[in-house]
Amino acid sequence: MARGGRPWRVAVVGGGPAGIYASDILLKRLAEKSEGLGICGEAEIDVFEKNPAPYGLVRYGVAPDHPAIKLISKALDKALSSRKINLFCNICYGKDLHLEDLCRRYDAAVFATGAGRDRKWELGEGVEGVCGAGRVAGWYNAFPGMPAPPLSTPVATVVGGGNTALDVARVLLQDPYSLSLTDMPQDTWRELAGSQIREVHVFIRRGPESHKFSAQQIRQLKACSRLVLDRFSRSLLGVAKPPSSPGSKAAWEELESAGEDGPAPKKCCLHFASSISSLSAPAGRLEGVWVQRNIEGPSKEAFFLETGLCVSAIGWEAEKLPGLPFDPARGTITNEKGRVSGKVYVTGWAKRGCEGLIGSTKSDAAETVEGILSDWAQKGQEAIDCTPTEEFLKGRGISFSKKSGWFALERYEEGLGRPDGKARAKVGASSEMRRISGLE
Ligand SMILES: Cc1cc2nc3c(=O)[nH]c(=O)nc-3n(C[C@H](O)[C@H](O)[C@H](O)COP(=O)(O)OP(=O)(O)OC[C@H]3O[C@@H](n4cnc5c(N)ncnc54)[C@H](O)[C@@H]3O)c2cc1C
Repeated sequence: MARGGRPWRVAVVGGGPAGIYASDILLKRLAEKSEGLGICGEAEIDVFEKNPAPYGLVRYGVAPDHPAIKLISKALDKALSSRKINLFCNICYGKDLHLEDLCRRYDAAVFATGAGRDRKWELGEGVEGVCGAGRVAGWYNAFPGMPAPPLSTPVATVVGGGNTALDVARVLLQDPYSLSLTDMPQDTWRELAGSQIREVHVFIRRGPESHKFSAQQIRQLKACSRLVLDRFSRSLLGVAKPPSSPGSKAAWEELESAGEDGPAPKKCCLHFASSISSLSAPAGRLEGVWVQRNIEGPSKEAFFLETGLCVSAIGWEAEKLPGLPFDPARGTITNEKGRVSGKVYVTGWAKRGCEGLIGSTKSDAAETVEGILSDWAQKGQEAIDCTPTEEFLKGRGISFSKKSGWFALERYEEGLGRPDGKARAKVGASSEMRRISGLE
């Protein structure tokens, strides 16, 4: 026998993959389980996104030359098209919307705000020419207002050994022609095409036995540059134990077949067990980096490399959001399997930190949704303020765009790309995005 007659009202803060998957999974699991749990099987979900466009890092993180992954946005569109899910863009939690609003108006508030801030790299703080991978990925993905990094230097450096580090290195070295068919706007493409960068050096803290690159990632780097290992890394590779799993073995073989360091029109040099120990920035502007080796090898000497760009790709962290507990060590909203406290839940990178691919936000969301359903089954429904959300937002004088606006922007971008044979060409200017999506 179902308890509570009205549909559950759920707020999802953050329209990235985690927020959209959580909404979709919640509706499906509720339909399947409500009878067994004795609760109402209907829900209405409001997704609040601070940017003029949803889908978080699918739109603004995934590299433009990975179109197959960008296509995840089509799956997100399908989920979002449910009439039980509403989308409100340009609504920022902490500015337009507060915890007490969510607790007063909803049966559950799910935070899916990601980990959208580059982790601080103390060494590079305030130095011109040093920037986070988030800024670089934001720029090549046309995040509104994100300026280009310095591109007039022949040598760029990247700190970090994760997927993002290799994405940044690859895009900086990529043949501009091959990027001309991506969703990159013309202005960004022109900036990249005019780049002077011919060499990228990637500094990876640990030795080659700990790397997590896939064979595919290494092949993609080889396709756009001469991939080399410095002498130190090559010697480490020679004595390290190769991994046994087939995927890691294939990546290892790709590394083994990388060339020796030497001149090349475009080059990516991997430096394992190496870190930047200090910067040379005499007038606050980066001129070079000192590199140290982190383990014993044939030579442990530090060396200096002239460079005008250093990108730190050392991870991401969630922002501390007003009213919510924050775990500074993990850079997440403090939670227990997605439960924060009372009606408040969390999912995605804000829940578990910047680990895992887009697919893992689904399993994450499933765990959080199970928690919500079992809490509802225990507590039943309480009285909430059911004023329609549009009325509530307009009453506060807050402008927003809706799902229809987002779909209009998508159609516009697809139309923009069509004459050049592209699946889409992104609109990068915030004002233009707002105009097309009919900001109310
Ligand atoms: C550079 C980069 C490249 C990547 N490439 C790949 C790849 O190729 N393949 C892959 O599978 N994974 C990739 N990933 C990982 C993938 O992007 C993440 O697993 C996934 O995006 C995490 O989803 P999320 O929804 O938790 O966070 P996000 O995608 O960050 O979404 C969070 C959303 O919340 C919104 N938000 C934040 N704060 C507020 C607020 N206060 N109010 C309202 N809204 C808010 C944000 O604007 C954003 O839209 C990449 C990640 C990065 C950083």
